[in-house]
Parts: sequence; structure tokens; C-alpha cells
Amino acid sequence: MTEIPHHDIIRHLGHRRTVVGQAPGRVNLIGEHTDYSGGFVLPTVIPQTTAVAVAANAGVASRAWSASMPHDAQQARFVVGEETRSDGWVDYVQGASAVLRAAGHDVGGFDAVIRSEVPLGSGLSSSASLVVATLRALRDLFALSIDDAVLAGLARRVETDFIGVPIGVMDPIACAIGTANHALFLDTRDLSWQLVRIPSTAEIAVINSGISHSHATGGYRLRREECDAATRALGVHALRELTDADLRALDVLPDVLQKRARHIITENGRVLAAVEALRKRDIVRLGALMDASHESLRDQYDVSIPEIDRMVAIARAQRGVLGARITGGGFGGSIVVLATAGQAGKAADAVAQAARDELGLRPQVLVPPRK
Ligand code: ADP
Ligand code: MG
Repeated sequence: MTEIPHHDIIRHLGHRRTVVGQAPGRVNLIGEHTDYSGGFVLPTVIPQTTAVAVAANAGVASRAWSASMPHDAQQARFVVGEETRSDGWVDYVQGASAVLRAAGHDVGGFDAVIRSEVPLGSGLSSSASLVVATLRALRDLFALSIDDAVLAGLARRVETDFIGVPIGVMDPIACAIGTANHALFLDTRDLSWQLVRIPSTAEIAVINSGISHSHATGGYRLRREECDAATRALGVHALRELTDADLRALDVLPDVLQKRARHIITENGRVLAAVEALRKRDIVRLGALMDASHESLRDQYDVSIPEIDRMVAIARAQRGVLGARITGGGFGGSIVVLATAGQAGKAADAVAQAARDELGLRPQVLVPPRK
């Protein structure tokens, strides 16, 4: 849980009644870029969370402060009931009240204080974590009856409808329903999900490269368009309908679309295999599937970068490591590593050290948490 220092609450919210909402970041174990074509994903939560403290504000103007944006206080103003997109981070906060109101909930003015341990733009979903935490805080402050599954749907609309970024369904659902020590097996076609226990013989490491993907919105959009184009050309509803047995049918597509579709189809198969491996506690198999996912994202989907490939290679050379891959949308961000229990910390530190010394990066080990 992220603590917001008491003096920050007093400074910004005074002595008003204050409630705090929390939500974790997430790391996707496998099933990358599959959540916008009805496919399967398998994320889990990370220990880092975002905390949002809110207090009711009877005046017209609302304000938000974020410890991650210390110089932005002037811009972080909004009016509940007249929320307008500003293209700044405050949109994630005012988007929450806009979407709640659009859904018929009675939300009044409020001020917010935010503190997050989830690094921004690192493929660990700081945005969904902020939105889910804000919605939870408002749910509490205005006594709204919304369960977490519905809340995840509202969180998604904050990003897709209010802000206008084309995110898939994985992030808000992972941040709202994900559970520690479990993988969330989500079918993004019908939104059914199951929590699958991660065996205690396995341990996960997450290392942020420090290279932000924020410049890559264009790349993400382009991949979505390529998927849509492949879907149309193949005459299917969604790429999810195809399996490895259909790979030969891709021959009709132009080269680039063939590669994109091949990644999506094989990645969906890998998620199903990963769930089976988790259930059988076959962590060696799970590691091999994560390796194959990285290869596919690098060679077929073209969303990796050399620094990340190098970090993955270094991770794989560490003792006890069973598999490693890029995680999140790509073009930077973080890697996720599967190791034998007890070995993840050392492996993660070695990757971070090499990323610093050899690649000149400013990496950060997030999992296992380093105090
Ligand atoms: P990711 O979700 O992978 O971290 P995004 O680009 O989707 O990356 O979201 C990052 C954006 O979300 C930031 O640029 C900022 O606008 C907003 N954001 C996330 N966390 C915070 C925070 N703690 N304070 C202010 N804005 C935040
Ligand atoms: Mg995001």
C-alpha cells in the first residue's frame, strides 16, 4: 500500500473528511497485444500501487495534486460536471468523475492528492492503476454501489472515451481484479476470467529499463490497425478465432500482416499452454513459453528494441532463470523474468547492473521489491 504523507493531505485537503483509494500496477506474464483482437491474456499485479486521497469540495473548481508531477499544480484544475479534456495527466482524474456521471452516478466536486509507486510509461499500467484508484476513492467518498468488475469497465472508458487512447481491456481489469500470487487468466472476448495460482516453486522478477514507451503511441496504434487489416483480409470476426492449425491460411496476406497475425495467433496458443503449465506446476514449460513470446514480439510483431532484447538475454543467462520477455505494449518499458523460487532477486539485480554498466540505462528493479 502506498502511504500518502499526512502533511501532504493536510496541505492540500485540510481537515476535511478524506478517503483513500488504492490500486496496484500490473505485469503481464504472457499474452501480449492480444487484448484488442478478442484473445487471451495472463497478467498479475505488482506490489507497487497508486494511492488517491479525495475530499469533497463544495465549490466550483476542483484540484488535483500528484507527487509524480510536482510542477503541474496550476494545470491540474477541473470542474466536476463540466469535465473537458486537457491532454494533461489531470484527465485521468477528471475522466473518472466524467465517466461516473455519464453512467448515472451522483458525484459532486472533489479535490485529490495522488502518490504512486508504479513507474509512469513503463509498461506496468500506471494509468489504469491511477484511474482504478481514483474510481475507488470516489466510490467511497460518494457512497456509490459499484463492484470491482463494473469499476474496471468504467476505468477502461476513462481512457478510451474520455482521454481517447486506444487501450485494450487487460489493464483496467488486471488493476481492478488482479490478485497477488495469482495469474489472471482473462478471455478478452467475453471478459470471463479465472485466478490461477502461481506455484510457490516459481518467483517473478520485473525490471524497468527506464526507457519510457510514451513516445510510442503511434506504434501501438499502427499495430492495432495492422491487426484490423489482417482480420478483414482473412474474413474472420477476430484473430482470436484462428489457431495454430490455421497458420497456413496467412499466406494470402502481405508479409507484414502475415507476421502480425502469426504473432497474435501463436501468442493466444501460448497463453492457453501457460495456463495449463501453471495448473500442472510445470514452471520450466512456463519459462519456455515466455521465451517464445519474446521471440515472437521481437521478430513477428516488431515491438521490442535492442536494449530490451539485451536485458532479456542477460536475464536468461542468470542462475535459476527459466524464461524472460518484454512485457507491456513494447518500444521500451519493462521485462518480466520467471525464476526458480529464491533466485529472482539476484537475477534482477544482475540485469539492472548490466543495464546500467553496459547499456547506460537507468533501470529499476520493481519485483522482487527492493527497499
Ligand atoms: P503506463 O500506463 O504504461 O504507465 P500510459 O502512457 O498509459 O503508461 O500512462 C502514463 C500516463 O498516465 C502519464 O503520462 C500520466 O499522464 C498518467 N499518470 C499515471 N500515473 C500518474 C500519477 N501518479 N500522477 C499523475 N499522472 C499519472
Ligand atoms: Mg497505460
